Amino acid sequence: MHIIEKKIQNLRDELRAHNYNYYVLDNATISDYDFDVKLKTLQELEAKHPEFFDANSPTQRVGGTITKNFETTVHEHRMYSLDNSYSKDDLEDWEMRIKKLVDGDIQYTCELKYDGASISLTYEYGNLIKAVTRGDGFQGDNVTANIKTIKSVPLQLKGDYPPKFDIRGEIVLPFEGFNKMNEERIEIGEEPYRNPRNTASGSLKLQDSAEVAKRPLECLLYNLTGTNLGVKTQFESLDKARQWGFKVPEAAKLAHSIDEVLGFIEYWDVHRHNLPYETDGVVVKVNNLQQQEELGYTAKAPRWAMAYKFKAEQVSTKLNSITYQVGRTGAITPVANLEPVELAGTTVKRASLHNADQIKKLDIRVGDEVYVEKGGEIIPKILGVDLSKRPANSEPTIYLTQCPECETELVRQEGEAQHYCPNYNGCKPQIIGRIQHFISRKAMDIDGLGGETVALLVNEGLITNYSDLYELTKAQIIPLERMAEKSADNLIQGIEQSKNIPFERVMFALGIRYVGETVAKKLVKHYKNIDAIIAASQEELINVDEIGIKIAESVTAFFASEENIDTINRLKGFGVQLEMSAEALSGQTELLKGDIVVVSGVFHSVSRTELKKIIEDNGGKVSSSISSKTSYIVAGDNMGPSKKEKADKLSIPLISENEFLQKVD
Ligand code: AMP
Ligand code: ZN
Repeated sequence: MHIIEKKIQNLRDELRAHNYNYYVLDNATISDYDFDVKLKTLQELEAKHPEFFDANSPTQRVGGTITKNFETTVHEHRMYSLDNSYSKDDLEDWEMRIKKLVDGDIQYTCELKYDGASISLTYEYGNLIKAVTRGDGFQGDNVTANIKTIKSVPLQLKGDYPPKFDIRGEIVLPFEGFNKMNEERIEIGEEPYRNPRNTASGSLKLQDSAEVAKRPLECLLYNLTGTNLGVKTQFESLDKARQWGFKVPEAAKLAHSIDEVLGFIEYWDVHRHNLPYETDGVVVKVNNLQQQEELGYTAKAPRWAMAYKFKAEQVSTKLNSITYQVGRTGAITPVANLEPVELAGTTVKRASLHNADQIKKLDIRVGDEVYVEKGGEIIPKILGVDLSKRPANSEPTIYLTQCPECETELVRQEGEAQHYCPNYNGCKPQIIGRIQHFISRKAMDIDGLGGETVALLVNEGLITNYSDLYELTKAQIIPLERMAEKSADNLIQGIEQSKNIPFERVMFALGIRYVGETVAKKLVKHYKNIDAIIAASQEELINVDEIGIKIAESVTAFFASEENIDTINRLKGFGVQLEMSAEALSGQTELLKGDIVVVSGVFHSVSRTELKKIIEDNGGKVSSSISSKTSYIVAGDNMGPSKKEKADKLSIPLISENEFLQKVD
């Protein structure tokens, strides 16, 4: 084999194994940094040697394919639905029916019913060939490019897999990733996603696979389909699938009777709340595949399987009032204030009503008895109204027309679900929210100033805009509640220090709608200074990588406001960073500013010379000998014993290659 080809193969194998360990076994075997370095090496080799292209190389997982129309694809084996059961009686009835149709004892495989979007994956000779959504069960959409970005979907199998087969599973979005995505959305002023399931299925139909790659989706498999698979039971097939590299949750269990099935259901009805993803029931399957075949299918579902739906945790309670909250971007959110009630182990007092359409759809009114459910969402949701209990004098809800805080007439843009208060510069919660965003950790990170103090400063009339922060004096602050000499000093000092925060974070801190951390970085990298961004037209902005029309419109609208320009000019006057620093312009950072670093030993992912360059490029100083001034030592293998002794004596910390590289990542 060609030496380069061999090298490419080895890198692919290595990355594949790390992916498998991390995403299927939940067991990391490499640092993120080292993984990225190897991936980059592979990408470069593949770019130089297109003759060794492989559609299933780990490099293909980063996405980038744009699909305008997903191709309709016929399922070779139909994707059926499942019959539902809700009680012990239902399950016993089912057993009676199937016992009449097959001979011998029946055993069952019990699995969890994952709540996501179903998918059918086709493998040939160990390679993923296509991935198709369920669609109507007969045909679905070919979403292969998007599915390839999901790291728990093996692109190449291991072990003794059959030459051709389909495998079915569910694409889910675990709670943790879902909540993180929502935090980021809220940060840029977008409405949060409603629930993990819809977000997962929406993700499969995104046109840009690079976007899908960013979403923390997972694929949980549950069914092998095909001929000559070399397995005799469902339980065995799950185990085989695991051996071939698929993620098959370990919860699956073999049951020898319906009583044992019920034991499984009882256990998971409680413990499912500890799972990282959403489940809505249990699927019980006849274990023996021969018996499955004898039982066959009805028009819509297999006779050999039965879903048992968990009872959603629901209660009913009285709606006492509807109030409206104004967010940092002026978005109005209606909130249901409920008569407190116990639900899934917590006391629920409030629920989100989302928007005007939702209220209209449910025809929800103050005084109604409403059904509340706790699903994957952070805040409980209202499912509907118990009309039998509606008071005779009840009146339809009329949605608010004026801002509850500043009485400005609300607006609702076409195509948007939310109402907005347009009084950008005069509406208190917007002013406070914007300044709170400005000082937050990922933005200006102002020490000594918290969200409550911001509210206090605004309410006392000391500031109305984040640029006012830079004119605050100690004399103004000390009289405030809970402020003392020391805390006032800290506050002033924290504000002063924020003048060193680099431009990209200032750009994010400005709080322009849709400009999150990533977009802020892109804009800064492209335009270098604020004046260039202000001068950019919508068309020019759209030409910047990853900036779409929505962002471009929002940016130009922000700078079209005279008040905002005035704020920017004031920030400039106070010395806030509104252009890239000389270091940043030359590709350098200040991450290691002030660090005096000694490098010693042998390194793996970078050479010593590279390591020294990294230190200097990030503002650190390289020193050849250890002294009391040394900040730390980057220690590789075989560090000299005398150096080690000296470091110990002076208590200079040793850090590993990986730890160091993470510092500058
Ligand atoms: P339903 O949509 O209610 O008819 O339920 C059928 C769907 O449940 C299937 O299309 C699968 O996507 C999904 N499902 C989730 N977990 C499992 C599982 N362990 N076995 C079979 N189907 C499952
Ligand atoms: Zn307002």
